[in-house]
Amino acid sequence: MLKRAAVLATPIVTLLLTACQGARPTYVPADRLPDEWRTTAERTAYEETGTYAEAASFCKRLAATSPDARYTTFGLSGEERELPLLILSSERAFTPQAARRSDRPLVLIQNCIHPGECEGKDACLELAREILVTGQRAGLLAHANVLIIPIYNVDGHERRGLYNRANQNGPREMGWRATATNLDLNRDYLKVDAVETRAWLHLWQTWQPDLFIDDHTTDGHDHQYSVFYAATTGPEVPPEVAAWTRDRFLATVLPALEAAGFATLPYSFPRNVKNPAEGMVATAPMSPRFSTGYAAACNRASLLVETHARLPYGRRVRATHELLVRALEAVNRDGAELRRAVREADATAARTRGAAGDGQVPLRFEISDVSRRFVYKALELHARPSEITGDEVVEYTRTPVDIESNLYEQPRVTLAVAPPAAYLIPPQWADVIARLDLHGVRCFRLASPVTLDIESCRFADVKYEPWTSQGRLLPSFKSTPTRERRDFVAGTVVVPLDQPRARVAVHLLEPDAPDSCVAWGFFNAIFEQRENAEAYIMEPLAQQMLATDPTLRQEFEEQLKTDEAFAKEPWRRLNFFYLHSRYADPRKDLYPVGRLTDAEALRQLPRE
Ligand SMILES: [Zn+2]
Repeated sequence: MLKRAAVLATPIVTLLLTACQGARPTYVPADRLPDEWRTTAERTAYEETGTYAEAASFCKRLAATSPDARYTTFGLSGEERELPLLILSSERAFTPQAARRSDRPLVLIQNCIHPGECEGKDACLELAREILVTGQRAGLLAHANVLIIPIYNVDGHERRGLYNRANQNGPREMGWRATATNLDLNRDYLKVDAVETRAWLHLWQTWQPDLFIDDHTTDGHDHQYSVFYAATTGPEVPPEVAAWTRDRFLATVLPALEAAGFATLPYSFPRNVKNPAEGMVATAPMSPRFSTGYAAACNRASLLVETHARLPYGRRVRATHELLVRALEAVNRDGAELRRAVREADATAARTRGAAGDGQVPLRFEISDVSRRFVYKALELHARPSEITGDEVVEYTRTPVDIESNLYEQPRVTLAVAPPAAYLIPPQWADVIARLDLHGVRCFRLASPVTLDIESCRFADVKYEPWTSQGRLLPSFKSTPTRERRDFVAGTVVVPLDQPRARVAVHLLEPDAPDSCVAWGFFNAIFEQRENAEAYIMEPLAQQMLATDPTLRQEFEEQLKTDEAFAKEPWRRLNFFYLHSRYADPRKDLYPVGRLTDAEALRQLPRE
């Protein structure tokens, strides 16, 4: 019905659009700005922050006032609030198609994934006003298009309270970290359990931003810095994206922030909280459960912003605002290079080249022992005995003290894999296949059954923590590679890796990757034993096996000696023989996903 109306109205719509596209923005002088254009934070001298309704209404008014902005929504939250999106474009590229056609780089700025950490939202509302209403910063749209998510976790934002963040210095009331289903969206990017993540991924796949900025507030130790940051400068992104982030982006943004009075440091923690002179350790490249790690897995530049929680709220808004202005200036200046880097990265990811160019995809990282001397801007602190903890507690003074220390910031790859030509996922693993689809990973299905030589793996020592994580029961395991000939049914999903989303697929499907589907518990059922034998059936069989298989006897006796729990448990002792008998399930603990390394075999697969 809507479609028909749109067709009939085409001439009028076209006329209106043409008129609108040609409209020049008119600006209000900043010194005569009506009060309605001041945010709640500004009106309360940064004592407070506004509600969801106020932010949405502010964005709608911005879009109604300026021809350079559109307000839209990109999905619904768990409590069915609309997820707000403000689109800024002086060339009026207000659709994903138009933005992708444009030569201009596209920047996505996200706020309030952790709603208590809301300075990014207030900074963005002010910044958008300066671009659209007063025109003071209209130049930031000269060579860039910008998407702003003012509040991502909208339900958490509306769970406002005075006591939501003990570590944080204002605003007075703030939102709650988790969603209405108590999930942390900043752990959900790869496993996609929250409806908000599904909506976000759709936005991400359709718009395909080049640079992603995620605004947070830090926790932890106290110090003189205003902004901690983590950016895609390491092996987690293709080298061209890392080079742009380091040489074109951070190289100008960080000095400008320093010059404006906001000291910055890579997101890092003291080796010894009582003595920062022992060294500061930066965070290793983020895994793709995190927003900025996910952008990296999609070959995009990203920046995690963490303003210091102990700073007054107004100061944190100023720091974030300054950073966003400088970031957009850098993108306006060096956006063509960013676009080129991202395009190259997509093309090389299609060949799944690793950052080191050695054909491997790096999946896990740590910070190496390499360090450099630097001056750490500390606060004087005292450690005193605590009768509460029985340990010592650190108390910070407000006295700044600059101390010589070491900064550990060089990442090291601890797990990399040579990717196969394709993965094969049997169709019954529908939850996993649905995730691939949400991530925009290109797949096809087998039109008929095939038998293939593949690599896979067998799991052992599977254990679970006695608690859940993000609502999931996470297994720990050892994996041993296998090579075998395996049958795959028609409908099996084939994931070829010659595609831009190759790294995302590898992260999902290599079991040892930190955020793999196996690690998040999608395959827990394969670790369960479905059949067994009654003792009176198994006992004579076990006796016979002991008598005829000396190696098995040795293994049994060894386990009796070394594993006390095993020795004390009759059922486990009997099951030992069941698991070594012909009745044992060969599929138990065997990874259902196959790695096909033969590119020619991939080409010959029957496609649905
Ligand atoms: Zn956060």
